[in-house]
Amino acid sequence: MAGRIRDADIAVVRDRARIEDVIGEYVQLRPAGGGNLRGLCPFHDEKTPSFNVKPSTGVYYCFGCQAGGDVIGFVRSIDGLTFPEAVERLARRAGVTLTYEGGGTTSRSVTSQRQRLLDAHRAAAQFYVEKLHTPAARAGWDFLTARGFDAEVAAHFGVGYAPSGWDELSRHLLARRYTAEELVLAGLAKQGGRGGLIDRFRHRLLWPIRDLSGEVVGFGGRRLADDDEKAGPKYLNTPETPLFKKANLLYGADLARREIAKRYQVVVVEGYTDVMACHVAGVATAVAACGTAFGSEHVAVVRRLLMDSDAQRGEVIFTFDGDAAGQKAAMRAFEHEERFVTQTYVAVEPSGLDPCDLRLVHGDAAVRELVASRVPLLEFALRGVLARHDLNSTEGRLAALDAAAPLVNRLKDRGLWHRYAVNLDRWLGFLDEGFVLRRVAEHPSAPAPPLHPPGPGPPPPPRPPPRPRPRPPPPRGPRPPPPPGGPARRARPPRPPG
Ligand SMILES: [Zn+2]
Repeated sequence: MAGRIRDADIAVVRDRARIEDVIGEYVQLRPAGGGNLRGLCPFHDEKTPSFNVKPSTGVYYCFGCQAGGDVIGFVRSIDGLTFPEAVERLARRAGVTLTYEGGGTTSRSVTSQRQRLLDAHRAAAQFYVEKLHTPAARAGWDFLTARGFDAEVAAHFGVGYAPSGWDELSRHLLARRYTAEELVLAGLAKQGGRGGLIDRFRHRLLWPIRDLSGEVVGFGGRRLADDDEKAGPKYLNTPETPLFKKANLLYGADLARREIAKRYQVVVVEGYTDVMACHVAGVATAVAACGTAFGSEHVAVVRRLLMDSDAQRGEVIFTFDGDAAGQKAAMRAFEHEERFVTQTYVAVEPSGLDPCDLRLVHGDAAVRELVASRVPLLEFALRGVLARHDLNSTEGRLAALDAAAPLVNRLKDRGLWHRYAVNLDRWLGFLDEGFVLRRVAEHPSAPAPPLHPPGPGPPPPPRPPPRPRPRPPPPRGPRPPPPPGGPARRARPPRPPG
């Protein structure tokens, strides 16, 4: 067992690892006066920032959940590390060589398991990048070139190539003194039948997936042998490991985070190549979930990146394609809270092209225009409901109204509720706000308090919202009202996935 890290070294680490930089990799921090910084607490769910960082004394404190401590404590809490592991991690970062009581400096025997796995991933990422520049990677380049990516873009994203041999990476890493157990635990290899190792990724194009601090924690791999059933699924990711937790990893977030903070915008796309295409086209706020649906933990990450709070709002723009799966994914945002819904937008390309294909066909500007053409998620959802009804008959329009009402009734904010109910009236062409408002409010899902008594003339102004909140961000530029009597062009029938 290794000795304790010397206290003097711990003090040096604490001193050199600037707390605002370390925490800033996880939480968007903004000046809060007096040289202090503030952000949304990563340890509890909150809407107003109460997480404070004091660089002058090197401590953080959350007034919401009372979490607090120094930079070492922060790293311990956020990444679930032991004290020595946290010190070692920060020491590496700050370039401090640790000495241990009883002799020895930072070395293999005392480096934490987590750090070992991170080191193995870094070595693997480098190995894969080098392999991309060998003749065997020809199919990989064909894939990239066909999607409009050159060597410079590939290098920016660290794209690599996993060779087709059984154990090329494993042998490479074993020779660098990583153990078979470590490679299996890291998800880089699995145990073969005869005791040997089999690389997890073979003959695949690989995207390194990094955490917010930029450390590679896993890979996403695209099969290159299209006709080979035995080559496995088209996309293969690192499995769940001590490092790779797909529920809260967003591909591209490490590259996008600064731009996200600057523009108050996150663009959620579906694939690795879509992230690349967006960034190349100038939408450097694009991220993608890694082999899983965009879920509540992703929402939390996005909100921290945006420093999304009541006082400071950002936009989350989903670029799902118009297919059924895409719509379903967009609707999942409703399962998060209403607040997230009101700042969530959907950008749908009319012909169903994803950002990567859109850039190929129409160029960089088209990708930027797609993002700019976003509509509020709720509007997107309502138009989808309307499109499933025959709006040429009164019965059809009534049925559409009844189907749409529960969606509108999810809004707890009375002002927004009113606005959307009025929109429904316009989109359905009843041109009778009083009737539509009453009908929507009659649904059992209607929010309390009850609607203002309807009377002749224009409806009364909406009640003030239950808690102070800024107005929702309006779409940029004026939006012309849709043509009466029918849903707009965006509510088109779903296209098959592909
Ligand atoms: Zn807190």
